[in-house]
Order: sequence, then C-alpha cells, then structure tokens
Amino acid sequence: MEQEARTSYDVAVVGAGPAGLTAALYAARAGLSVVVLEALMPGGQMGETGRIDNYPGFPEGVSGFDLTMQMQEQCTRFGVDFVNEGLVASDLAAAPKRLETASRTFEARAVIVATGTHSRKLGVPGEAEFAGRGVSYCATCDGNFFRGKTVVVVGGGNTAAADAIYLARICETVHLVHRRDRLRATAAEQHRIAAIDNVVFHLNKTVRTIEGDGGAVSGLVIEDVQTGATEDIPASAVFVAVGKVPNTDVFAGQLPLDEAGYVVADESGVTSVPGVFVAGDVRAKRLRQVATAVGDGANAAEVAAEWLAS
Ligand code: NAP
Repeated sequence: MEQEARTSYDVAVVGAGPAGLTAALYAARAGLSVVVLEALMPGGQMGETGRIDNYPGFPEGVSGFDLTMQMQEQCTRFGVDFVNEGLVASDLAAAPKRLETASRTFEARAVIVATGTHSRKLGVPGEAEFAGRGVSYCATCDGNFFRGKTVVVVGGGNTAAADAIYLARICETVHLVHRRDRLRATAAEQHRIAAIDNVVFHLNKTVRTIEGDGGAVSGLVIEDVQTGATEDIPASAVFVAVGKVPNTDVFAGQLPLDEAGYVVADESGVTSVPGVFVAGDVRAKRLRQVATAVGDGANAAEVAAEWLAS
C-alpha cells in the first residue's frame, strides 16, 4: 500500500528483498511504524528466481515471485507501508535520519539497509551494445525468449550453474563458459549439471567479445586462458552470471565497507553508525541465501527495536 502523506517513521527499511521484508515484518510486529523503500519490484533476486528449492517449508519448491508476494502481504497485514521509489540521497548521521527519494524526503529514527546486490558486468565489447538484445543477467526472466535456441552462460558460481540447469530444460544447447578449470558452485549443483547432456562445458576460457548481427546477439568469441587460442560459439543469447556487486552507492562514505564493498556489521546487523543496521546480501558475510537473508532481517529488526528503546 503506497502512502502518499506520511514521511516520518520509527524505522525505514531500504530494499524489499527477503531481508528487507523480514526486517519490516519483525519491526512492525514489535510495534514500530515502518516504511519500506524499494525502487524496483519487491523480492529482489528472490523475486526473479523461478523455483527456490532450498528455502525450508516448501517440499516441492516455491516460486520466488509467489514467496515475495506472500512476504509482502504478511508485512501489509501488520501495517508496513511500501513506497515504490529508490533512494537518491541519504544522511544516516542525522537524527532523525533522512532518506530522499525523487519525490519526497523521509525521516526515520532507525534505518535498516537491505539493498542487496546487482549483477557484475563482464566488461567486454558487445556486452553493453547487446544488453536486452540477447545479453541478459537473468535467465529465469529472459530464458523463455530463447526457447529451442543455442545459448551461452558465463560464470562458475551457483547462479551460473542454476542458470545452465534452467536453460538446458528449454534451450537446445547451453554452452557454459568459465575462466577456471572447475566450477565454484556447490557439489549438489555440480552433480545436477554433470547429468545434463545438452550442457557443453568450456573451462579455462574467458569471453573476448560478444558478437551481433542485425541488432541482436549472434554469438561470442572465447579465449583459452592458457594458450590464448580463440573459438567462435554461435548463439542467440549470452547469460552473464559472474557474481554480484553490493548496492551501497547511495550511502557512499557513510557506512563501513569491506574491500569488496559489502557493509561491515556484527552478526545481528549492528553497524558502527548509531541507529543504522544492515541485513541480507549487502552485508559482509559468508552465505547469501533467502534463508540467511530472512535471518538477517529478523536480527536487524530486533537490534533496531532495542536501540530505539534504549
Ligand atoms: P559467485 O559465487 O561470486 O560466482 C561468480 C562466478 O563468476 C565465479 O565463478 C567467478 O569466477 C566468475 N567471475 C567473476 N568475475 C568474472 C569475470 N570478470 N569474468 C569471468 N568470470 C568471472 O556469484 P553467484 O554465482 O552470482 O552467486 C552469488 C551468491 O548467491 C553466492 O553466495 C551463491 O552461493 C548464492 N546463490 C546461491 C544459489 C543456490 O544456493 N541455489 C543460487 C544462486 C546464487 P572464479 O570462480 O574464478 O572466481
């Protein structure tokens, strides 16, 4: 429910992925007034995931979209306000803290940062030119456009493995290009992918260029990291899955970050900035999953409520 009038809250949650939605739910249930600011659709990466098999309670898996809608509905039931606008500026040191969107300035006594991450770019020729015209960063969003075609997935983590598994079900052939001699995806994902016969591995290979023809991707050129030999792979799409970059630009200079740009906090999400807490993938931590994001969100709301009461 978008509220036009109100701009002052006990807690502002920035980001409506599983961490932000859980933080909002817990804060609202603790009796605090809560607004969630989100520039895009709620759900974050969870919302874009076709089927989530490792979130407990759903023996047949659950669609990320459905899980998002249910989490948001639960928040709304406890009085959380949602504002579909991104932050353009913030002052986290002020009291109350100030959060500016394109149309309004919100004030909050505490802020929970749950802004997640965005996809890292490869930075090769053709990538930006063909973005949205065959270059994609979301297999479950765009895979269906390439049903029955030959596609490429670049990367060696869990996202690349999950993308290749998903695309292999709907595409003729999936070429998986990774710069090392082995994937870093979990053993379970590697086991699944090894059993699929229309996934072709190109290990120890990097992407040199993404090629196009008539305004759309026609293939790519890969290069062997040891020999430098190049090879053309004709393909209709390139799904880039080479990791994530934390969304912290709007808080530049205001939060303690680690060398990769993730927000440093204790395990409950307490940062060194009084009244600012962090939850989910944007936090420096080991495992980034829906299950760990919701745990982070609950903890951050709890410590925020304690801080507000102190
Ligand atoms: P990730 O684990 O960081 O893996 C990124 C991959 O991209 C790595 O294999 C990396 O290579 C490669 N890479 C990075 N920069 C590159 C470049 N410039 N050119 C070529 N390759 C490059 O990222 P992710 O797979 O997106 O996963 C992010 C987080 O979400 C992880 O914590 C992951 O476990 C989690 N996740 C979990 C699931 C699941 O459990 N089902 C699904 C999706 C994501 P190197 O191996 O050489 O570093």
